[in-house]
Amino acid sequence: MAADEDSAFEVYRDQVDRPLVRLFREYGAPEAHWLVLGMLANVVARVASLVPPIVLGVAIDAIFSGEGAYTLPVVPDAWLPTDQFAQFTLSAALICGAFVVTAVFTWIYGIAANNFAHRVMHAVRTDSFEKMQRLDMTFFDDKQTGEVMSVLNNDASNLEVFLDNALQNSARLGVMVLGIAGVLVYYNAQLASVTLVAVPLMFALTFWFMRAVEPRYVEQREVVGNLNTALENALSGVELVKTSNTEGYETDRVEDVSYSYFRRTMDILKLNYVYRPGMELLAGVAFAATFVVGGIWLFRGPPGPFTATLSVGTFVTFIFLTQQFVAPLAEVSNIIDQYENAKASSERVFGLMDIPVRITDDPDAVDLAAAGEGDNDGDDDSAGVEGHVEYDDVSFAYVENALQDPEDAEEYVIDGVSFAAEPGETVALVGPTGAGKSTLLKLLLRLYDVTDGAIRVDGHDIRDVTLESLRGAVGYVSQDTYLFDGTIAENIRYGRFTGVDHDVESEAMRERVIEATKAAEAHEFISSLPQGYDTRIGERGVKLSGGQRQRIAIARTILQDPEILILDEATSAVDTETEMLIQRSLDRLSEDRTTFTIAHRLSTIKDADNVLVVEDGEIVERGTHDELIDRDGLYAKLWGVQAGEIDELPEEFVEKARERHVERGVEEGPGVERGTLDD
Ligand code: ADP
Repeated sequence: MAADEDSAFEVYRDQVDRPLVRLFREYGAPEAHWLVLGMLANVVARVASLVPPIVLGVAIDAIFSGEGAYTLPVVPDAWLPTDQFAQFTLSAALICGAFVVTAVFTWIYGIAANNFAHRVMHAVRTDSFEKMQRLDMTFFDDKQTGEVMSVLNNDASNLEVFLDNALQNSARLGVMVLGIAGVLVYYNAQLASVTLVAVPLMFALTFWFMRAVEPRYVEQREVVGNLNTALENALSGVELVKTSNTEGYETDRVEDVSYSYFRRTMDILKLNYVYRPGMELLAGVAFAATFVVGGIWLFRGPPGPFTATLSVGTFVTFIFLTQQFVAPLAEVSNIIDQYENAKASSERVFGLMDIPVRITDDPDAVDLAAAGEGDNDGDDDSAGVEGHVEYDDVSFAYVENALQDPEDAEEYVIDGVSFAAEPGETVALVGPTGAGKSTLLKLLLRLYDVTDGAIRVDGHDIRDVTLESLRGAVGYVSQDTYLFDGTIAENIRYGRFTGVDHDVESEAMRERVIEATKAAEAHEFISSLPQGYDTRIGERGVKLSGGQRQRIAIARTILQDPEILILDEATSAVDTETEMLIQRSLDRLSEDRTTFTIAHRLSTIKDADNVLVVEDGEIVERGTHDELIDRDGLYAKLWGVQAGEIDELPEEFVEKARERHVERGVEEGPGVERGTLDD
């Protein structure tokens, strides 16, 4: 297992440059109209909210105390009434109008800001899921599903909050600070200098806070990753945890990580404890200074170095506006919090998106079924895939993680394997656990690409045809059947008949499903369920036995109707009757298809056209069952043990198996010693 810091995810995450800029460029741009509308509405609403204190101040001076003329900023005096009652009516109308404008534009701003944030996030979420699905198996072998889940869940929500709140709050903050400062300076620059003296101090405090808090956020993020991994491990391994009595140990582990997460969070909050009250204090000082200096000014005329005159109305305007100053500034630490989270989250989102996918369609890839021209067997290929499969000197090594170049991988688990299967033939693969049988067949599906050599289907290198056509032509029934949350019918249709193009409710489709299910010997047990084919299975539905699940998988594959078939026979013990049913359904399934089975059942091996005995990634014996028995090699020995003719494998085989396991650092498995063909 690769060390954590080497995982593809983290490496690409660390390489992401200016993630938020990228978020805006790649995802924000198509929705920019919402952002612009939101910002404009925000500015209008905020500017409108400055109107009442200004008008109030003017009204006090001109109408109530008679100290000054009725003038408004921006508006020419000629437009304003001279009659005091008309001035009062206008003031009242302006104040009411300003509140209405603020309300209407706040409403518009809400709609626009929400649309922007959620549309962008919808696109990001869909894209990262799409990307995640295309990632190579190697990525998933690295066991990073917890991380992926947290990208799709947590990171997406973090970005949503940022785009929705923080962005607009900071815009509002800018407008308020500039707008209010502008008005104050316009009315009385000297008193404004008293009020605004706190602003540079606030900037200094904010700067200090950001510098100090940033590295703590970085530390917190690292711990979040560990916490997710710990939780995900304990959840997926819950059966092992219970059976090994390690609940306490797992709880301790999670507790440790959770505690260190707690410590990191407190480290951030400690700075908040200083920053937030500090900002409020500075805002309070600005307010108090304005009140004290302005009050003295009114009583005794300009204090100290000041020379300007101050009216009661202007004083009132100052007091009201200074109040409005405080609220948005107190938001700054929230904005920073959301900004930091969003930066980390977008790094992770783009880190995921930047992981290169190696197994993709070649730009010139052709459809396997339509790619007939390449071969010269004279058949009419337009009819589709024939099912001729050839392994040509194939070697393969697993890379240690998604970052390693396949060229650099050292441990070859498949070494120079060549064989061919004619259309319709059955090839059985036998050999001890870890010999490379599953790997060999996964290469045919291009879950991994060969390191050397080539695999050809109907004469085409599988790297030259589209993945979709290749995987459509190869059916795969694995040991462990995965069923989705949904009805039985949906699970059987899954694959070829999933999606909007198919009328899944049609009578014809139902019949096809039932036909396939009958061939898979699953119709009877399904019909006996209370809701038949509409019975829900999976997470929120009924639980099925291993044998039943496997027959559903077989029905699914019969419906898929592939030309080539891979069967990884289940090793789990099923009763003889079930085994017989499964065997019959498998026989029907493999009829007329090129079939590769990783074989445990004697019957499969006996009837196979070709048996390949795999050991240490090489084919050590090949031939029909009878030929191999006559050769009296490994196969004959394995066979003898299984058929009960000899008690135990000869010591030399056991010894060899042990060596192999030790060499690979694999714990000694019981498979070979017990004398079965597999685990
Ligand atoms: P078999 O199917 O014969 O039991 P496998 O093909 O599963 O053998 O495994 C062959 C070898 O490859 C084993 O040594 C196994 O540990 C290793 N291996 C299997 N899967 C992976 C993987 N995803 N990543 C790295 N090594 C693997």
